[in-house]
Amino acid sequence: MEDTKSQGKKMLESAQALIRRTAENMKLDEDTIRRLIEPEFFHEASLTVTMDDGKKKVFKSWRAQHNSALGPYKGGVRFHPETVRDEVQALATLMSIKCAVAGLPYGGGKGGIAIDPKKHSKAEIERVSRMFVKKMVNVIGENLDVPAPDVNTNAEIISWMVDEYQNIKGYKSPASFTGKPVSMGGSLGRTEATGRGGVFVLQALVEKLSKEKLKTVAVQGFGNVGYFFAKLAHEVGFKVVAVSDSRGGVYDEKGLDPVAVKEFKKKGGQVSDYPGKKVTNEELLSLPVDILVPAALENVLHEKNASKVRAKVVFEMANGPLTQEAYEYLSKNNIIVVPDVLANSGGVTVSYLEWVQGKAGYWWSEEEVNSRLKETMVRAFEAIWKKSVAEKIPMKQAAFEVAIEKIVSAMV
Ligand code: NAD
Repeated sequence: MEDTKSQGKKMLESAQALIRRTAENMKLDEDTIRRLIEPEFFHEASLTVTMDDGKKKVFKSWRAQHNSALGPYKGGVRFHPETVRDEVQALATLMSIKCAVAGLPYGGGKGGIAIDPKKHSKAEIERVSRMFVKKMVNVIGENLDVPAPDVNTNAEIISWMVDEYQNIKGYKSPASFTGKPVSMGGSLGRTEATGRGGVFVLQALVEKLSKEKLKTVAVQGFGNVGYFFAKLAHEVGFKVVAVSDSRGGVYDEKGLDPVAVKEFKKKGGQVSDYPGKKVTNEELLSLPVDILVPAALENVLHEKNASKVRAKVVFEMANGPLTQEAYEYLSKNNIIVVPDVLANSGGVTVSYLEWVQGKAGYWWSEEEVNSRLKETMVRAFEAIWKKSVAEKIPMKQAAFEVAIEKIVSAMV
């Protein structure tokens, strides 16, 4: 537990340090920096829930509301046994930056429940989800704080949460949560949105770096983000030469079809047994590819393995896949790091589109959603690229500057 606590603390300190460094470079005064760092609210609730055997169990839960200068708080709720308060606060902080980077009218929020969903029945998880909403009902809502799915939470869990919220309030409020099933007012295109948004950014980057001939891609992680990123990158002409999941991966320099790998996995095969060369997750990170895409976990590139990266671009589709040391090493060695706050902001962007549709009571076709997603991602990329080139600074620093400028200009 101590370890988990210190991990959460480390994550929070590093998010806050990044904001402080950027804000100091921008010559902001100390009080403004404090306003950018301190969360506006932090809600903590013990959820007492009856288990299937009739016994009561208590789960810790949190909702952090970091900064609302740009709009209502927005961010997922994660279910994880190792979730701690500091981690939730760090993720809320990064959501403020991500929403500002994407130009969305939102502040940053995040929720967490310390629960291991693998150890509970579906009925118990439903009761925990509903209890979370009961405790938080007065601090969330479509114009206040809009939760969404995150690690170990999905459309079904959100459907229970929105149902509980509406039952308590006594009216319908489809814009109070995003990531809902389409039948309950979810948006078409939400499932693929994070991967699709990443590919739009990658295409825009490749256009800027046309002399580099960026073609080959290795993707670590074959879940929602990694699979759709690989599939859509393949569809628009990139050569996906390696993919992996938690059990390892496959490499084929001639290129792989991610849909075929997925089919193979669905039929009971392991990704690493797909025809090609077996690679471990560690080996995948040092393959001779143009673009390396960590799309699974945090901190996979660190001080011990960053020097082995041979890619020209590291594209952060996971949240926080690089430690500070790895980031500094890669940047010093002219490897372009496309930051998570830009690369994976397609998910929250389509959440925003879902919220707009819910508020209007009018739903768009998938083509309309995808075209608005593209417009948002390309606009966000262009602003960061322009600053990065003009000020000769890495894209991550440029992203934080763009975000902080927007937040500060809306603070009164
Ligand atoms: P997911 O659970 O759908 O998939 C995770 C994938 O990573 C799985 O294929 C799993 O096998 C693999 N994996 C687990 N441990 C691994 C390991 N040690 N090495 C390699 N692969 C491993 O999760 P997801 O929704 O795809 O999220 C992935 C990352 O993207 C997370 O950092 C998440 O916070 C971030 N993210 C997700 C979204 C979204 O819309 N889903 C949006 C923004 C950011």
